[in-house]
Amino acid sequence: MTTPQFDLWLDGANTPAAVRFERHSPFDGTLAGTFADGGEQDAAAAVGSARRAFDDGPWPSSPARRRFEILTETARLLTANADLLAERMVRESGKPVTLALGEVAASARCLEYYAGLALAVEGSAVSERNPGALGLILREPVGVAALITAWNFPLLGVVCKLAPALAAGCTVVAKPSHLCPGPTMLLAQLLGTAGLPGGVFNVVTSQREQGAVVGQHFASSRAVDKIAFTGSTATGQAVMRAAAGNAKRVALELGGKSANIVFPDAPLADAARTAISAFTFNSGQQCSAGSRLLLHRDIHDEFLALLVEHAGKQVLGDPAEAATTMGPLISRRQHERVLGYLDLGRAEAKLVTGGGSHGNFVEPTVFDGVDNSSRLAQEEIFGPVLSVIPFTTEQEAVALANDSAYGLAGGVWTGSMDTAFRVVRGVRTGKMFVNCYNTAGLDDMPHGGYKESGTGREFGHAGLEEFQELKTVQILLR
Ligand code: NAD
Repeated sequence: MTTPQFDLWLDGANTPAAVRFERHSPFDGTLAGTFADGGEQDAAAAVGSARRAFDDGPWPSSPARRRFEILTETARLLTANADLLAERMVRESGKPVTLALGEVAASARCLEYYAGLALAVEGSAVSERNPGALGLILREPVGVAALITAWNFPLLGVVCKLAPALAAGCTVVAKPSHLCPGPTMLLAQLLGTAGLPGGVFNVVTSQREQGAVVGQHFASSRAVDKIAFTGSTATGQAVMRAAAGNAKRVALELGGKSANIVFPDAPLADAARTAISAFTFNSGQQCSAGSRLLLHRDIHDEFLALLVEHAGKQVLGDPAEAATTMGPLISRRQHERVLGYLDLGRAEAKLVTGGGSHGNFVEPTVFDGVDNSSRLAQEEIFGPVLSVIPFTTEQEAVALANDSAYGLAGGVWTGSMDTAFRVVRGVRTGKMFVNCYNTAGLDDMPHGGYKESGTGREFGHAGLEEFQELKTVQILLR
C-alpha cells in the first residue's frame, strides 16, 4: 500500500512546507500518511490568500448559479471518490469503513443542500412603514472565515462549515486536526477540480503543537472575520478569547454529556439497542453521544439485561472490514484517558458489562448506579462508556438531565407524546431525539449547543446565516 504525502493547500495549489510530520494508524501503527507541518508563516500566507480572494477576487460577487454549480460538482466528486476518502479516514483515524462511507455520503448531501440554498438566498424589503421611504435588508457574505476542526468527523466536520461558507460567498482558511488531516486535503483538491477559484479555500495542516499556533493565529488575525470551531470546551474558550481582538463572529461546537431518558412505557427493545449505539457510535468519540442513561427504576433490571445483550453484538476489529462496528480510539493518549475513567467507574459505581481493552480498543462499557454529580457523569469521556443513573419521576429525570455544564443533545423514550414533549421542552439542550437517537433520517436540521456546549449552529438555514451579515438600506423616495 502506498503512503500518500500531502502538502499545504494555498492559493489553489499544493504548496510544500519546510517541515513534515507523520500520522500512524491507531489500529495497527502503520504509516497512514505524511503531512506538511505548517506554522505561523503558513497560517499568515493562508489568511492573506483568502483575504485577497475576498477583497479582489470573483467569488463573493459571483452569481448564485456559479456557487450552486461548484457545490453540486464537488458533491458529485465526493461521491465518485468515496472509497478514497473513506480509506483516508480508516487509515488515519481508525473509523470503521462503513461509518466512513456514511460520512462521505452525508458530506455530499450537505454540499447539495447548500448548493440549493445558494440559489435561494433572498433579502427582504420594508415597504409600508413609511410610504415616503423604502427599506432593504440585504444578506452579504461575512468575509474571510476560518474553520478549525476536530478529528472525529474529519470530512463532515469541515464540509458542514465550508458548504454554507461558500454558498454565502465567503472565502475560507481551514485547519484540520493533526490526527486526521487527509480528508480535508483531498477535499481541497476536489474543490480545485470542481473549479473553485484559487484562494477561496486554503488549508494549513500541522502537528499537535503547531496546530495550536496556527489555530490561535486564525482566531486572533484581524484579517479573519469569522471563526467556526469544533473541538473541546477548553480550546473553544481559548479561541473565543483570541477572537475578541477584532470582535470577529464566533461559532463554537464543543463537548457534551447528553442524557438519554427511558420511561417504562417505551418500546424497550428498540430503546436498549439504540441506547448502545448512542454511546458506541464512532467508539463513543462523538460530541452528541448519549453517554448518560437516565433509567426509570421500574424497568431497571429488565433494561440492563437488554443493554448487556446489545453491547455483546458490537464488533470490535479491523476498521477496514465492513463488519466492524467499533474501531480503536484515536490515539494512545485518548486510550489512556478513557482507561482512567474505567478505573474511576470501578471504584465509584457498578460495572455491568465491558471494561476490557486491548491495543487502542475499549469494549462498550456500562456502569450502573452512577451518581450524577460524579466526574463519571459530569465529564465528557469521549470513549464507549455509559453511566446509568436511575430516576423515579419525570421531574427528577428532567432535573438530572439539566444538571450538567453541557447542553448539546438528549433523548427521550416513551409511548406518550405528552410526556415526550414535556421532557423535550424541559431539557436545555440544542437538540432532542424522541424514540430514536442521533437521527430520525432528518438531515440538515440545525446542530449546536446550549450552555458550555457552544454557541452558533451548523446545518440547515441557521448554518448559512452564520456566514452572512445583514445590511440594512434606507432609501428616501423623492
Ligand atoms: P481539540 O479542542 O483538542 O482540538 C480541536 C481543534 O482545535 C484542532 O484542530 C486543534 O488542532 C485546534 N487547536 C488546538 N489548540 C488550539 C488553540 N489553542 N487555538 C486554536 N485552535 C486550537 O478537540 P479534539 O480532540 O480535536 O476534538 C474532540 C472534541 O471536539 C470533543 O470535546 C468533542 O465533544 C468536540 N466535538 C464537538 C462537536 C459539536 O458539534 N459540538 C462535534 C465534534 C467534536
